This record gives sequence, C-alpha cells and structure tokens, in this order.
Amino acid sequence: MEKWPLGVFASIDAGLGVKLEVAHELGVPTIHLHTPHKQSRTPENAERFLNRLKEMGIRITVVFAGFPGESYADIPTCIRTVGLVPPDSRAERVQELKEIADFARLLGVDAVGLHIGFIAHEPGPQRSQLVQVTREVCDYLKGNNQRLHLETGQETADVLLEFIAEVDRDNLFVNFDPANMILYGSGEPIAALRKVGKFVRSVHCKDGKWAARPGQEWGAEVPLGEGDVGMENFLRTLDEVGYTGPLTIEREIPQEPVRQKEEIGRGIRLLNELKAKIG
Ligand code: MG
Repeated sequence: MEKWPLGVFASIDAGLGVKLEVAHELGVPTIHLHTPHKQSRTPENAERFLNRLKEMGIRITVVFAGFPGESYADIPTCIRTVGLVPPDSRAERVQELKEIADFARLLGVDAVGLHIGFIAHEPGPQRSQLVQVTREVCDYLKGNNQRLHLETGQETADVLLEFIAEVDRDNLFVNFDPANMILYGSGEPIAALRKVGKFVRSVHCKDGKWAARPGQEWGAEVPLGEGDVGMENFLRTLDEVGYTGPLTIEREIPQEPVRQKEEIGRGIRLLNELKAKIG
C-alpha cells in the first residue's frame, strides 16, 4: 500500500465530517467514517453505500462510533457525557458499540475508533470499570477480526499508555489526534506521539491553538497548518515512529460546509507538499 494515502473525516447522517460527495470532489482515496444513525445501519444500506464508495474510488479505513447524549459543549460537559465513562448509559452504549462494529464489518472495515471518555488519571474504581468494559469491547471486536482505536486527547500520553497496559488486549490501539492534545490541554502533541507511537494505527490531521487556561477551557480548532501542532514536525515524527497509514484530515466545522471544503482543500495541498519533502 502507498505510504500516507490522504483521507478526510466523512459523515453520512451523523457526525461532523464532510459529505461523501465532498470527499470525492476533494479527490482523496480514503475516509474515516462517522457511524450513521442506528436506523441507517442496515445490511441494505451497507451494500448501497459500498457501491457508491467503489464508484468514487474511496476506501473506509476506520469507522468512528458516537452515541446519542454526548456533548462537547465544554470540558466538564465532555467529562460527564462522552464515551463509555457515564455509568448510567454505559451498558447501552457498549451494546450500541458492538452493533456499530458489526456494521463496520459489513462495510469490510477492520478498525473501530472512539472517544472512550475521560480516563481517570489515578487508578481506582472508575478506571477499573473502564478497563473491564474496554476488555469486553476488544474481545467482541476480536471476534469480528477488528481493532479498537482510542481517540487521543482527553488524557496524557502516560495515562493512555497505563490504560492500554491495564486492558491488556492485542487489538487495542490509538487514533492519534495531535490537535486534541492541545484542545483538551493534555500535553504537547509531538512528545505524546513519540510515547504512544508504537500503538498508533490511524491519525487525524487536525490543528489547534492552546487555551489561555489549558485543561479548564477549550483551545481553538483552526485550519491545518495554522495552529500549534507544527505539521512538518508531526509528519516527521510519524515517520520516526514508523507510521505509514492514512493521513486523515479532520476539520470540525460542518455548519460551514463551503469553508470546511475549502480549508480541507488547503490542508490536502499542505500535506502533499510535506509528503513530497519528507515521505
Ligand atoms: Mg479526531
């Protein structure tokens, strides 16, 4: 497979990605797909969808899970609502995650990504419960020959490494999103990438600026190359840790589709330049 094929984060009827038509117009060969709504996840839709992608020459490399009730309004809300952390919805969400994995399998996709939620920084009951439930999910995915990719950002690289070791499953990996490290204030992204590098099986090329009070308020997501990640350094470090998979651009402004497409277009040009220089 070609090193570093470009990609974009795409959505059908849920999530913040670009529409498939836009991914096609942008000319990328791969996408990460935000899972469609529950009622859309049928075998008929999977087949129809795969036919469309085939015509467009696009391959899905990761299906991302998301759940009703999640909110990224601010960091405290995020801690309360995201992923498999909230105890009241955990069982229901684990069930839904298994269904999403089965839909991904119908699409021929061998990786499911998600924001698992805030992993407690200290060992204790919250973290043990999350470890337990992550094992259950990994074991289910294993039966589908799939991997689970944890989206980075909500914890430091060290906590993420401890968590992966505690879960102790060979199909648990990382989707590295350098901007999230900045937006959530959980550590300098390049240093984090060096630490978790051997677990990175997919990435989001996204950029961001640090908040005045990192970790307490959101940083700002900005177009690729205009933030504090340092894209050249990011790609050089991916090279260093041996990552050769897709470079998937994520720009989370679906409310402004024209600007979203234009900015992703510029991101693609930037990545192509850097690929020519480094790759
Ligand atoms: Mg991301």
